[in-house]
Amino acid sequence: MPFKAAKAAIAKKLDPTFEDLEDQLEIWGKKRWAQKLRLKQHEWRGHQPYDLPPAVKTWIRFASKLNVMVQQELYLQARQELLFEELDRSPWAAEDIVDKQQEIKEKLRRFPGAIWREERNVYFCMLEIEDGPLKRAFRAHHRDKDWHLSKWAREDCAGMGGCCGRACGCCTRPRNDKRSNLIGHCSSMCLCCEKARGFSFVYLREPGKDPLCKIPIRILGPSVVKQYANTHVWGL
Ligand SMILES: [Zn+2]
Ligand SMILES: [Zn+2]
Ligand SMILES: [Zn+2]
Repeated sequence: MPFKAAKAAIAKKLDPTFEDLEDQLEIWGKKRWAQKLRLKQHEWRGHQPYDLPPAVKTWIRFASKLNVMVQQELYLQARQELLFEELDRSPWAAEDIVDKQQEIKEKLRRFPGAIWREERNVYFCMLEIEDGPLKRAFRAHHRDKDWHLSKWAREDCAGMGGCCGRACGCCTRPRNDKRSNLIGHCSSMCLCCEKARGFSFVYLREPGKDPLCKIPIRILGPSVVKQYANTHVWGL
């Protein structure tokens, strides 16, 4: 058996022992060491360390879409309130304003169900990641509620004109109190960014295709691939 294949076979055979060791490291507060051990095992199994499997890429796509949907919902609620104020100021334009309000109300009605479904999609994507050190690393990393706030991810958000470039802290806390488990970086539907930018984008109909949340892996080099994998899986 070639050396690489033998190493992969041994790493797989020792998986339960490694898992116990990782748990022990976490108990001792050495989370980073546990992640490094998982990354090593992933390599021993013959994988490129920062080459993410398709299930993780799908998870990222769904999670990004969910983040945009949460921001879209808030965006529409804010628009709705602005229309109420406009109605007070310009009662002669009531017919037009009420039509716009109806349109927004109709859109908003669909959000609770759509977000509920999307949260489940994200969960099912996580389940589809193959069992092993990478999945354990993914799960351990995501137990930290601030997993998305790596230096690189914050710089990326700031570079795209997002709130990480300002002192508002929007990406570090839930944007919607009713959805306190959903935290993420800015999309084109971030209201705070819109105020800072001074102009609006066209309302985004397809939350999965936000130009501000595109996956940079396709256009940039290996150092970004590494940072990207670290942000989403390894946390190193
Ligand atoms: Zn902000
Ligand atoms: Zn951000
Ligand atoms: Zn923002």
